[in-house]
Amino acid sequence: MTWGMFVMIAPMKTIQTDVLVCGGGCAGIAAALSSARNGAQTLLIERAGFSGGIITTVGLPYFDGLIDKPSGRFVVKGIALELLQRLGIAKPGAKSIDDLPPELVTKYWGSMWIPNVEHFKVLTDELILQHSEKLKVLYHSVACDVEVKEGRVAAVIIANKDGLTRVEAKQVIDCTGDGDIAHWADCPTISSKPLMPLTLHFRIGNVVPVKETKDAAKKVLIEAHKEGRLVNFYGPGLIFAFAKDECYVHATRVPADATNAADFTRAEIQGRKDAWTIFNEWKAKVPGFENSYYIMSGPYIGVRDTRRIVGLNVLTLEDLRKTTRHDDAVATGCWFLDIHPPEVSVDKPFTGSGFQPKPYDISYRTLVPQKVSNLLVAGRCHSASSEASASSRVTATAMALGEAAGCAAALAMKSKNEVGTLDGVKVRETLAKQNAGPFSEA
Ligand SMILES: Cc1cc2nc3c(=O)[nH]c(=O)nc-3n(C[C@H](O)[C@H](O)[C@H](O)COP(=O)(O)OP(=O)(O)OC[C@H]3O[C@@H](n4cnc5c(N)ncnc54)[C@H](O)[C@@H]3O)c2cc1C
Repeated sequence: MTWGMFVMIAPMKTIQTDVLVCGGGCAGIAAALSSARNGAQTLLIERAGFSGGIITTVGLPYFDGLIDKPSGRFVVKGIALELLQRLGIAKPGAKSIDDLPPELVTKYWGSMWIPNVEHFKVLTDELILQHSEKLKVLYHSVACDVEVKEGRVAAVIIANKDGLTRVEAKQVIDCTGDGDIAHWADCPTISSKPLMPLTLHFRIGNVVPVKETKDAAKKVLIEAHKEGRLVNFYGPGLIFAFAKDECYVHATRVPADATNAADFTRAEIQGRKDAWTIFNEWKAKVPGFENSYYIMSGPYIGVRDTRRIVGLNVLTLEDLRKTTRHDDAVATGCWFLDIHPPEVSVDKPFTGSGFQPKPYDISYRTLVPQKVSNLLVAGRCHSASSEASASSRVTATAMALGEAAGCAAALAMKSKNEVGTLDGVKVRETLAKQNAGPFSEA
């Protein structure tokens, strides 16, 4: 309201909670459930209209980091394994790749996938609602700023159809993938140089694969690139994951900085254009695609790599090589160094050695940023060097880190402590009682 030269700004609505989880992706959904189950009043906010992160916002069905490739044993249990059980994929007591349906695993990669990402949306909704006494969710809600006072995140500002709201949380968990909260709170962060590219995933139906399909698909992409119709790609980048006649394509590659709004927008547009080009090239020229149709692309282009915090401990390649043990380990990583180059690559999606570590410890302190005492950062933006994060960024590992963060935030509430000064050994002990790891030793 305006009176003469005075402008009255209505005070922003404020809500309060014990624990606020920003981002409901792989780390965030586990963090929110874990925080609520451990007794803290928890609010989860997510910019999409559903939880699941990469699994549902991009459509990627893989649970990598679950299985130690050489031995086949699970090194992540807890909520990640519970989700697989609730999806009807893992039986109770499942311990290794041999306990999973053979049609959903690739032993060569130590990898497994879920058959339907829509089921994952419904399941995460159900779990959130089952915990409604302790856990509230706001979808279509974006964290957009923070207030920092005396070394604490005093409030996170969220934007949604209610307008702007201040959320005052005693403990905050940043699971935005991009370390948004940590960055706005001025905690030190780093990013890889170069950043890994973004990829829009899409699906093509009514494909009748024949022996020549994959080779021809690759050849067509190489030609389209040479002739200037496709600037960048990984090829062939097609998988028959969901059905025998449906190919799931991860061949687009868009170099961009997804923490820059304009560049992120450009990448989304470029990814969409490239996916459409790839579909049309294959439909016109690849045996098996003659009668195919474009089903859909994921709701968002997938972001592999942006900021990571420089926390109280930094997971490094040396730690992976030496399998450094930590008393305050709260999760186990095991995926290979999966570094996607921002330029064209064929046959193998990753660059570099592809080093396969033995199951390694991830310290609680990789979740603890510098400078603020009531913030944890879980998922791909936890504290790790570029190389180490190429392993620790994957989905099941992110879930384990999220579960640890949620457990820690609830413990901090119970002990009237802050997550930044909490003893990680106590978090580990609590996780162990909940069969949530770490499981670095066989
Ligand atoms: C194209 C691509 C392919 C990949 N392939 C694989 C693979 O095959 N296997 C594998 O295991 N891993 C793969 N990964 C890596 C893996 O998916 C991620 O590293 C993992 O999802 C990390 O989990 P996260 O919770 O940190 O992030 P995400 O799962 O991305 O979750 C982040 C969530 O935060 C939300 N969010 C972001 N900012 C805000 C905000 N400001 N406010 C509110 N909400 C916000 C997002 O909408 C999202 O739901 C791939 C990644 C990409 C991009």
